[in-house]
Amino acid sequence: MTGRLILILGDQLSMTVASLAGGDRSGDVVLMAEVLAEAQYVPHHKRKIALVFAAMRHFRDELIADGWRVDYVRLDDPENSGTLGGEVRRAMARHGLSRVVVTEPGEWRLLAEMRSWDFAELLPDGRFLADRLGFAAWAEGRKGLRMEHFYRLMRRKTGLLIEGDQPAGGRWNFDSDNRKPAAAELSMPRPPRFAPDAITREVLELVAERFPDNFGVLEGFAMAVTRADAEAAFAHFLHHGLAQFGTYQDAMLLEQPFLFHAFIAPQLNLGLLDPLDLCRKVEAEWRGGRVPLNSAEGFIRQIIGWREFVRGIYWWRMPGYDRENALDARCPLPAFYWTGKTEMACIRACVEQTRDHAYAHHIQRLMVTGNFALLAGIDPHELHEWYLAVYADAYEWVELPNTLGMSQFADGGLLASKPYAASGAYINRMSNYCSGCAHDVKAKAGPRACPFNLLYWDFIARHRDRLVRNPRMVQMVRTWDRFTDEKQAQLRRDAGRFLDRLG
Ligand SMILES: Cc1cc2nc3c(=O)[nH]c(=O)nc-3n(C[C@H](O)[C@H](O)[C@H](O)COP(=O)(O)OP(=O)(O)OC[C@H]3O[C@@H](n4cnc5c(N)ncnc54)[C@H](O)[C@@H]3O)c2cc1C
Ligand code: SF4
Repeated sequence: MTGRLILILGDQLSMTVASLAGGDRSGDVVLMAEVLAEAQYVPHHKRKIALVFAAMRHFRDELIADGWRVDYVRLDDPENSGTLGGEVRRAMARHGLSRVVVTEPGEWRLLAEMRSWDFAELLPDGRFLADRLGFAAWAEGRKGLRMEHFYRLMRRKTGLLIEGDQPAGGRWNFDSDNRKPAAAELSMPRPPRFAPDAITREVLELVAERFPDNFGVLEGFAMAVTRADAEAAFAHFLHHGLAQFGTYQDAMLLEQPFLFHAFIAPQLNLGLLDPLDLCRKVEAEWRGGRVPLNSAEGFIRQIIGWREFVRGIYWWRMPGYDRENALDARCPLPAFYWTGKTEMACIRACVEQTRDHAYAHHIQRLMVTGNFALLAGIDPHELHEWYLAVYADAYEWVELPNTLGMSQFADGGLLASKPYAASGAYINRMSNYCSGCAHDVKAKAGPRACPFNLLYWDFIARHRDRLVRNPRMVQMVRTWDRFTDEKQAQLRRDAGRFLDRLG
């Protein structure tokens, strides 16, 4: 058998990835390429580009040390064609190879392109618990598609937190214990920092030079870019963050971007960490009596529940899912999503932190930037491109369903049973943002009223006919209906003025 070209993509940095697992070190050549088309099809955060290239270069060295022949094409190689297809063809010619093996990518756009390569064999990505077709078979024809049902299947499949055939602690889900606000005085672990080595420093220089105008701060980059460092970062979370992770999962605090969150999605999605291994380690912490069940279950649910569920939805509903817009939201994305220049202290905090760390935790994404966009009627596709660009962990298979489905209800309720719409009271309860805001979170109308309050009722009014059919929203619709005509008119007028200014 003649050798083959094994193409490894930037988010396939796992020794266990299918294309490597079936490879032959003596005859195959591994191709890794930094290509401009992938680095700029949305204006990625500088740190995200740096993370991916630095992790790729370190993985290249790991592969070489493991006995693989690696052909690595750098972004600044003058011969670099700038596209994956171009680099594959060039490498085939360079090595005299006629066949290519690649593990399926995490994005429909690339999968469609690769399917047109008649010289390529595509292998399923086995790094997930639920395969694409299995999920589609489970989902097809179900009346209500709920993450909770899928999650229970995954718990049984993995045996995680199962005792006998029952869930540990007698409940599948401890989410109701995980909604506490956090006091600023709480002692919180900072994620460990990894000083850039020579390889990473070279990448940082390249990114600074080639992507000077992209969003985000590059200075201070200290992310884990190797498997060993990613595992060390996770061990740090296990020992210092996990115990409180559940309780404060939804809390938000100024100056505390990470709270008790793991900050491991960037490395997990690159393939440097193994999801099941993380969950087993978390379970062991609980079984060893070192962390409470609500934290262990909460973490495991995010990984084997939400992460797998959104991936299943993505592949089941693509192509086309990215264009859904059930609420017919058409407003352009406000400039302050890029600049942070807004009087709304909550949005400012989330955008500034995103700029500085390429990170915001789930509730900041869902209930601040996402919630605002939902209430204001921002075009979900524009918002999707923003989330895809600004977070270091963002890949379309996981970002799109979270944004379009969970956060914007643009799929009409396929993924979420109700829109995640909330007034300023929610943000005030879960954060300390409002005390430093130019707006008054208690004011429901008038010039200083919190925009979330104004927009919340306007949102209910705009979508009244749809929301009245949703059992989880009907109560809010009834409250709106009970407002006097005068109050309704004032709320809508104030919201309209705000939206006009936004436009
Ligand atoms: C609008 C929006 C966009 C999002 N985009 C992305 C994205 O591009 N990439 C991404 O990995 N996550 C995304 N999420 C989910 C979630 O916000 C991030 O996974 C999480 O904030 C990552 O930070 P962490 O590692 O500290 O996670 P933790 O809060 O410590 O949670 C642990 C892990 O659980 C997993 N997880 C938690 N929630 C989800 C979820 N809803 N979907 C998938 N995995 C989850 C992640 O792998 C995460 O690392 C998005 C959520 C929203 C609301
Ligand atoms: S008052 Fe409203 S806009 Fe200001 S921080 Fe609070 S929720 Fe955000």
